[in-house]
Amino acid sequence: MNNLVRETVIVGSGCSGLTAALYAARANLKPLVIEGHEVGGQLSLTTLVENFPGWPEGIQGPDLIANMKAQAARFGAEFKTGHIVKADLTNRPFTLDLGKEKIQTRTLIIASGASARWLGLPSEQALIGHGVSSCATCDGFFFRDKEITVIGGGDSAMEEALFLTRFASKVTLIHRRDVFRASKIMLDRARANDKIHFLPDTIVEHVYEPEKHEVTGLKLRDCKLDKVYDFPTSAMFLGIGHEPNAKWVNGQLDTDADGYLITNNYVFTKIPGVFASGDVQDRRYRQAITAAGTGCMAAIEVERFLEAEGH
Ligand code: NAP
Repeated sequence: MNNLVRETVIVGSGCSGLTAALYAARANLKPLVIEGHEVGGQLSLTTLVENFPGWPEGIQGPDLIANMKAQAARFGAEFKTGHIVKADLTNRPFTLDLGKEKIQTRTLIIASGASARWLGLPSEQALIGHGVSSCATCDGFFFRDKEITVIGGGDSAMEEALFLTRFASKVTLIHRRDVFRASKIMLDRARANDKIHFLPDTIVEHVYEPEKHEVTGLKLRDCKLDKVYDFPTSAMFLGIGHEPNAKWVNGQLDTDADGYLITNNYVFTKIPGVFASGDVQDRRYRQAITAAGTGCMAAIEVERFLEAEGH
C-alpha cells in the first residue's frame, strides 16, 4: 500500500466528478480522479449538448468533457485510469482497492454515475458489439442504409432514434407501452421524422442470431393482441434508461430500491467524509448541469469537512 494519504479522491470522471475535481483542485486539495469504466461518463457517449448553459450553439459531449478535464488539470487535479474493486469506508482514512493498488484518502466523493440498462435476454447479451448496442453515437455508423430498431419510450430512445436516422434507411422504435415518458419536444421531433416508425405495446423476446454473430431480426410480442412474430432488423439499440454505478460501495451506504445512493442536503451520505454527487445519487434530474452542480457542492463540503478537522 502506498503510504500517502490523499486529502480527497473522486470516483468517476463524468461532468460531476470533473466539476468536483475543478473545485477541489482550486481549493488546493490535489484531488485524484479515478476515471472508472466509462471514462468521461455519459456525455462522452453523446453528440450535441444543447442545454448546457454557456454554449449558445451547443457543444459536442466529448468536447465538453475534454474542456472540463483540461480545466481541472490546469489547477492540479490528477487522473488515474482504472476502477475501484473494493472500498473500505468503515475506517478512516478510507481505503480504495483498485486491484493492483490501494489508495488511502481522508475524504471521498462518489461520482460514479449511471450506466446503460439492458433487457437481460441471453441472446441480447451474446450479441453486444455484433448489432446490439446501447450507444447510437458509437455504433450507428456501422448501419448505413440498414433497417434498425431502437428500444424504449423515454428521451434517450427518441434521441437515439433521431440520431440513427442519419445512417439508417428506417428506424423502428419499439416501446412496451403506448404511453411515452419522453418530453413532448423530443417525441414530436421523432414523430415528425419520416424515417422513424413507432411500434408501441411491443416487447422483445429474442434477438436472432447469436450463432451467426450478427443481428438478423427480433422475436416480438404484441402485448395488446398477445401475438408473437418475427421482425427482420440489422441492429437493436437500447435506450431504456440507466443503472446507478454504486455496487462497488457494497452496502456500506444506503441506497433506494433501484440502487441509487441516498444523500441528505444534496451530497452528504451517512458516513462523515463521504459525499456523493451526480447521477449515482440523482434519479430525478439526471442532467449534465445538475450533475456538475452537485459535484461542485460535494467539493465545497469536502473543503469544509477537512477544515473543520484541522487539515
Ligand atoms: P427513462 O426516462 O427512465 O425512460 C426509460 C424508457 O425505457 C421508458 O420508456 C421505459 O418504459 C423503458 N424501459 C425501461 N426498462 C425497460 C425494459 N426492461 N424493457 C423495455 N423497456 C424498458 O430513461 P431515459 O430515456 O434514459 O431518460 C432519463 C432522463 O434523462 C430523463 O429525465 C430524460 O428527460 C433525460 N434525457 C434527456 C435528453 C435530452 O433532453 N436530450 C436525452 C436523454 C435523456 P416505461 O415507460 O414503460 O417504464
